[in-house]
Amino acid sequence: MITCNERKDERNFMVRTQIAARGVRDKRVLDAMRKVPRHRFVPVSCSSEAYEDFPLPIGSGQTISQPYIVAFMAEMLRLNGSERVLEIGTGSGYGTAVLSLLAKEVFSVERIAALLERAREVLEALKVENVHLRLADGFFGWAEEAPFETIILSAAPFDIPNAIVNQLADGGRLVAPVGSLGAQTLVRITRRGAHFDTEALLDVAFVPMRPGVSEL
Ligand code: SAH
Repeated sequence: MITCNERKDERNFMVRTQIAARGVRDKRVLDAMRKVPRHRFVPVSCSSEAYEDFPLPIGSGQTISQPYIVAFMAEMLRLNGSERVLEIGTGSGYGTAVLSLLAKEVFSVERIAALLERAREVLEALKVENVHLRLADGFFGWAEEAPFETIILSAAPFDIPNAIVNQLADGGRLVAPVGSLGAQTLVRITRRGAHFDTEALLDVAFVPMRPGVSEL
């Protein structure tokens, strides 16, 4: 449950001018983007920029994605509310909160303890109950909870690890940035039995996926 009326006009303006204007049509996605208070997920020092059209630093050398990219990726997952989503890269928890309004349950993995704890506090304060957070190396996905109808990566690996792809349910969709810095493509992989269809969606610039777990 997320109810926050603070800065609602800014969110409506953001959705109209940055997200709907660029072609995102999924009504549930647009509604979720109007609801989630992005300013609660960014450091106080950049709160005034929370609804601007760019990524922002969230500490530990990481960034919260541009609002349009969050909305576009959510739309590409084609969520109807019945799914279990695996998210790799909780970061600020903002994308997690958006997904929590669009799917049944979100399983989100983060490798930096300080970010995960901050995300946990904000999500709890907003009474988001259908998310499960885990401090772990997302290169291994979340095997105990697999398979997932949808998987989303918010950091870019050079190649999508097999361990993650194998946690996709039959008919499931995975959306992820892939490649090295300066040459990344957002892709969607759809599983059809033993076959995986890959579509290139957009050129993007995400932080790289890194191995292992870190405190800071
Ligand atoms: N969706 C997030 C974006 C955060 S940036 C948000 O809305 O704020 C990407 C995040 O991926 C960073 O927090 C980074 O620490 C995390 N990450 C990178 N490699 C990872 C890995 N192997 N496992 C889990 N998280 C990882």
